[in-house]
Amino acid sequence: MAARILKNISSASKRAVGSRLYSSEVKKCTIIPGDGIGPEISAAVQKIFAAAKVPIEWESVDVTPVRGPDGKFGIPQSAIDSVNRNKIGLKGPLMTPVGKGHRSLNLALRKEFNLYANVRPCRSLEGYKTLYDHVDVVTIRENTEGEYSGIEHEIVDGVVQSIKLITEDASRRVAEFAFQYTKENKRHKVTAVHKANIMRMSDGLFLRCCRDMAEKYPDVKFEEKYLDTVCLNMVQDPTQYDVLVMPNLYGDILSDMCAGLVGGLGLTPSGNIGLNGALFESVHGTAPDIAGKDLANPTALLLSAVMMLRYMNLNKHADIIESSCFATIKEAKFLTGDLGGKAKCSEFTNAICEKI
Ligand code: NAD
Repeated sequence: MAARILKNISSASKRAVGSRLYSSEVKKCTIIPGDGIGPEISAAVQKIFAAAKVPIEWESVDVTPVRGPDGKFGIPQSAIDSVNRNKIGLKGPLMTPVGKGHRSLNLALRKEFNLYANVRPCRSLEGYKTLYDHVDVVTIRENTEGEYSGIEHEIVDGVVQSIKLITEDASRRVAEFAFQYTKENKRHKVTAVHKANIMRMSDGLFLRCCRDMAEKYPDVKFEEKYLDTVCLNMVQDPTQYDVLVMPNLYGDILSDMCAGLVGGLGLTPSGNIGLNGALFESVHGTAPDIAGKDLANPTALLLSAVMMLRYMNLNKHADIIESSCFATIKEAKFLTGDLGGKAKCSEFTNAICEKI
């Protein structure tokens, strides 16, 4: 039975990584503009896609929470139907209220569509000077469980328990995804990041699944490292890492640290990949401090959209948009504030369009 589950995950994971779910005829994409800077940067991406004549028809959906029959707030059915229909989407950041109000819609979307692997590439950009010049790491984060399971309760007054849920199935499928991704993208090493010395059972299970998977991919180098060691190494010499796979919370934190190494959150894309579809989004949030002022850097969402195009096998369009974006950053005439420039989001966007 376990072998059968693994075999099913295996072929599906190959499909998900290798983007064979989508032929280039599939042209409709859901777009969730999101909150805060979301609408501005989504409009920027759509403008650049139009300039590059990408054969995509956007289906824009609103995910403002609605009250369901159970009285709880959640994602509107129309948005769920759109993603189910198109199987692919681009998503702007969504605000999550702290400690009260509706639960995270980001989490709800990942759970609803079982988007089990969160892929976050982080690469130094030529011409944009940071502490290190050759950062090129990909964090692959388990996206459906761990501390994000949402199982929390007050045991007695003043004592709260949060459950970190780790399952063999979810750990195996994300481990498999990481090895398959490494192989298909001609990378060389997978590092499993964990704290199995402390969380012996939960991280221990995750680590065992990674070790088992390593045996099935003898051509990919495998190592295991403690999370704290990886943090230390990453700021001292990030070039020693390649692809890193880890449980949910570690991936959230570590990938932001990696973003800091290449110029910040305005630059880093991500893809949430599942067996039946994928949602691409920037790593950053709604940036309420600059929202509505035409100051945001749209690069992170644009590079997420480029990941989406590659996933859809629209590689030529992906290449031209990516190189126009990189050339605009290298030229440094129209950089947004987060990159030390004075350009508006719209000026940076126009500069990219002119290079296409
Ligand atoms: P944030 O990423 O929104 O902002 C952190 C800092 O980075 C701010 O100073 C912001 O101005 C800057 N920044 C972020 N993106 C930028 C961009 N594209 N261009 C220029 N500067 C940029 O993080 P936060 O303030 O902790 O979170 C704000 C809200 O976003 C919260 O409600 C949080 O829950 C939500 N959030 C959503 C997602 C998501 O939708 N995937 C991810 C993270 C945070």
